[in-house]
Amino acid sequence: MTSREPRLDEQAARDLDAADPLARFRDRFEVPLGADGRPLVYFCGHSLGLLPKAARALVAREIDDWGRLGVAGHFEATHPWYAYHEQFRDRGARLVGALPGEVVMMNSLTVNLHLMMATFYRPTVRRHAILLEADAFPSDRYAVISQIRHHGLDPETSLIVARPRPGESIHRTADLERLIEERGGEIALVLLPGVQYLTGQVLEIERLGAAARQQGCRIGLDLAHAAGNIVLRLHDWRVDFAVWCSYKYLNAGPGAVGGCFVHQSHGADPTLPRLAGWWGNDPETRFSMRPEFEPRQGADGWQVSNPPILSMAPLLASLAIFDEAGLETLRAKSVRLTDYLLFLIDTLGSRRIEVITPRDPAGRSCQLSLRVRHAPRDLAAALSAAGVVCDFREPDVIRVSTAPLYNRFHDVWRFAQTLARDAG
Ligand SMILES: *Cc1c(COP(=O)(O)O)cnc(C)c1O
Repeated sequence: MTSREPRLDEQAARDLDAADPLARFRDRFEVPLGADGRPLVYFCGHSLGLLPKAARALVAREIDDWGRLGVAGHFEATHPWYAYHEQFRDRGARLVGALPGEVVMMNSLTVNLHLMMATFYRPTVRRHAILLEADAFPSDRYAVISQIRHHGLDPETSLIVARPRPGESIHRTADLERLIEERGGEIALVLLPGVQYLTGQVLEIERLGAAARQQGCRIGLDLAHAAGNIVLRLHDWRVDFAVWCSYKYLNAGPGAVGGCFVHQSHGADPTLPRLAGWWGNDPETRFSMRPEFEPRQGADGWQVSNPPILSMAPLLASLAIFDEAGLETLRAKSVRLTDYLLFLIDTLGSRRIEVITPRDPAGRSCQLSLRVRHAPRDLAAALSAAGVVCDFREPDVIRVSTAPLYNRFHDVWRFAQTLARDAG
């Protein structure tokens, strides 16, 4: 909190909400209710964001158009399905700091990761390895190891793992830079998260991207926890590719269609090898059913299949809200929410709880990860019983996300009350 004298009382939280220019956005979402009929303290945007109310009508419209038009909906629906994904061209790009054409919404995260590795992980005898962090999300790890094996290589020698120092949970940028410098000649691809899912650490992508480029490595990002959470500048950072899902901070629903960024310098190159399908073909000749694949320019050229319209409709509702609120404004509120949460946790002074997320606002997003020293599962259960939705990761981490679109300062206050009762 930047206000001079942070206060601990409930009224202080109410005052912060009353002064919050983004407070009205909460009403755009359906907030689940607890057993006592009160809204849950929903701190689980890192796993599944809440339903934007507008999504119901948008999904219903596609159902109606399908019923009304049948196949003609491809060209005559309210938003013709043939070009449906193009509605996300500019919006998707704004979300991650990309140029229009550098982003396409398609598939889901791990699928997109595989598609991107098919293009950007092209191991040679000397440059054969992928650099991944030790606590990478398991799906990323599985994808990476399977790609290494797919090329007939051995993860024992072709997977390079970046670990924080012993006793530390947070990656030091200088250590990562040194690792890239030392092993760069072997590394084909550096794959890093924008926000580390377990600790909530925001990585310094601009610096790490420069280190990777200097060594001639490709750099790809997993933005599952970064998209819609922090301000990104993918084009300027010259990242080769990035992938993300839309059901976390982007609130587009379970299994929502994910996103994919391909830097313009690659999108303009039709000769890049890729796993192709008809939807990546130039739309002008797509229905000519020619034998030769002619990729569309930009990220669109990596599409494989025609998009799932019913799953994409909620994304329209969601991204319209992001555009209206503005990412920079959301980020500013997000920092204040976590500042307030940190202040309340610090005031509590519990020896049972350690915040492992970096304290520097530049190093964290809207997620704080709490390491709980005794009976972590009991604390997670107590939070849940009190109407707080967060999550518990074995063996001892509780992840709490304060999403600025629908979380209030009062939610933070309620959370801290519960924590004080159960972990004070
Ligand atoms: C949530 C998440 C995923 C999920 O992958 P899907 O393919 O969308 O199921 C992958 N990687 C990370 C880092 C995640 O946080």
